[in-house]
Amino acid sequence: AKEMGNNNFQFYAREMNASVEEKLVLLEGLRGALDEGQFHLLYQPKVDLRSGLIFGVEALIRWEHPEHGVVSPLRFIGLAEESGLIVAIGDWVLHTACRQNKAWQDAGLAPITMSVNVSPRQFEEKRLVERVAAALRESALAPGALELEVTESLIMRDLAQSVGKMRELEAMGLSLSIDDFGTGYSSLSALKSFPISSLKIDKSFVRELADNTDDQAIAMAVISLGHKLNLRVIAEGVETEQQCTFLRDNDCDEMQGYLFSRPVPAAQIAALLAEQARM
Ligand code: C2E
Ligand code: CA
Ligand code: CA
Ligand code: CA
Repeated sequence: AKEMGNNNFQFYAREMNASVEEKLVLLEGLRGALDEGQFHLLYQPKVDLRSGLIFGVEALIRWEHPEHGVVSPLRFIGLAEESGLIVAIGDWVLHTACRQNKAWQDAGLAPITMSVNVSPRQFEEKRLVERVAAALRESALAPGALELEVTESLIMRDLAQSVGKMRELEAMGLSLSIDDFGTGYSSLSALKSFPISSLKIDKSFVRELADNTDDQAIAMAVISLGHKLNLRVIAEGVETEQQCTFLRDNDCDEMQGYLFSRPVPAAQIAALLAEQARM
């Protein structure tokens, strides 16, 4: 047993080295990725559970690394945060997403909301509000067609300052949504003071929704809490008909997940919207 423990340790140590090394390699690549045009956005539809229609999309970043292929944001957003690169990358995401939504509108497609993820360092940056305003101005997108997704833990890092920024953004006419709701910690009394329009039930509570009664209870509680606070409630990570049925039966407003569509390139969103207009 002792020997095995040793081997395990060596294996673990090797893994850790590999991952530190990997981090350095990725960080090195990340520095030039914007200039090299290695990022692109995919868009995942958000669907109204009653009508079944797409009312918005979430922009999700992808990094096409010259040697490693497509790198998941789960592997590089943290690094971008730590290194501060997230501010420039986040700006690029905002501008690209706003321009894309304007292009769909200009093509005569039904207007939809563009949701953009904002990470903590990006949100805390002094000029966030100006940066968002610049993206709207440059793209000529109406503020009402943009939504920012922020997490509870981000808001709770400096509650007063966060709520102040959120109010400024709300005053500009865009909307805010709490991402990964239920995974972070935010007091219910704080939630009341957030100028938000929706809550997103995290996919960790959706995964086993069909047969885990705890997850069912959590989903139902979030839906009822959201509605009592006059918020829309959206569930992410919906992959099966059973999950979808449960959510619809329990009055959830919207859903997002592989059941309807994976994140896809802009042209595919345009095709889905065009098809929807013909229905
Ligand atoms: P998130 O904001 O919670 O996004 C949802 C994630 O779930 C996305 O992963 C999406 O592709 C995935 N997903 C969607 N439907 C399903 C489903 O039915 N089943 C499962 N298992 N997964 C589903 P993705 O694209 O890999 O992004 C991971 C995270 O990276 C995001 O989590 C977000 O926190 C971050 N991220 C992505 N794009 C950006 C960005 O532009 N800026 C910032 N700051 N963060 C981003
Ligand atoms: Ca999100
Ligand atoms: Ca999530
Ligand atoms: Ca998230």
